[in-house]
Amino acid sequence: IKWTEGRGWHDAELVPYAPLSIDPANMTLHYAQTIFEGLKAYKQPDGTVATFRPQANAERFQASARRMAMPELPTELFIAACDALIEQDRAWVPDSGEASLYLRPFMFASEVGLGVRPANEFLFMVIASPAGAYFPGGVKPVSVWLSEEYVRAVKGGTGAAKTGGNYAASLVAQAQAAEHGCDQVVWLDAVEHRWIEEMGGMNLYFVYGDRIVTPELTGSLLPGITRDSLLTIARDLGYTAEEGRISTEDWQRDNENGTLTEVFACGTAAVITPVGSVKSERANWIQGDGQPGEVTMKLRKALLDLQTGRAADTHGWMHPLG
Ligand code: PMP
Repeated sequence: IKWTEGRGWHDAELVPYAPLSIDPANMTLHYAQTIFEGLKAYKQPDGTVATFRPQANAERFQASARRMAMPELPTELFIAACDALIEQDRAWVPDSGEASLYLRPFMFASEVGLGVRPANEFLFMVIASPAGAYFPGGVKPVSVWLSEEYVRAVKGGTGAAKTGGNYAASLVAQAQAAEHGCDQVVWLDAVEHRWIEEMGGMNLYFVYGDRIVTPELTGSLLPGITRDSLLTIARDLGYTAEEGRISTEDWQRDNENGTLTEVFACGTAAVITPVGSVKSERANWIQGDGQPGEVTMKLRKALLDLQTGRAADTHGWMHPLG
């Protein structure tokens, strides 16, 4: 779907996957005016296909668009575009289990020009790819690197938007995590380098017995849809679920004294991933016993059951294909 100043959204079309031809002076290549989303369609037990909370993705896409001086795509158009692609690719929706069809809606400036200003022409597209189970051999805890040198986002910056630049800025820290033998980077706040924000492409949860806490939305972390869903699902299961502030010292101390029983990350790609060990320039420790915890696995099952249609959709989160 195209957007042109003065004309709005026009010329929606469904075309075979193919490379795009890009002008070397395309504004996105220079100024990164681009945003994206990620969501999954799951085959349901009755053979139909349903997406998980596409409305929430559409709304986050609109929030990202506002931050990046881009036009807002109406929710109905966002969902209709996803539905049309899933319908076309129905045969590619995996049959069962945790496998899904991953959808990647995105928008970028399609205008040509070398002046720095918001573009006047944009292209919105959706592409899709089958995604297997994230942990085919069983859920495996990840090791994390606390990045004290780099920050992902600052107050007033673009951290809460799903825009390419945030990910570009994170790559060097991700490489540093790998150099230290860790799977993922954990971001801290930009002012004190002490408050936990999020992990790579996932939000974090800290489990204190039957109370679970996730870092509050400070404006510099992405408001994850899985994070938001888990606040509700955890309460449904009888846990206390809240937003709060957790520092690196809290994490290490509470793990040592045994009050912090589990830590996990959550996001569309891996659903829920336990955190097994933590490393930084100053310390390293095993989280709990280093194994997936009971609360983590219970929440993981509850969320996946809902997404795959094995549990009742009590919150109206599943969007069935018409
Ligand atoms: N944080 C970042 C930086 C991400 O890229 C993602 C993935 N979209 C998340 C958190 C998790 O968000 P969601 O649950 O909506 O996938």
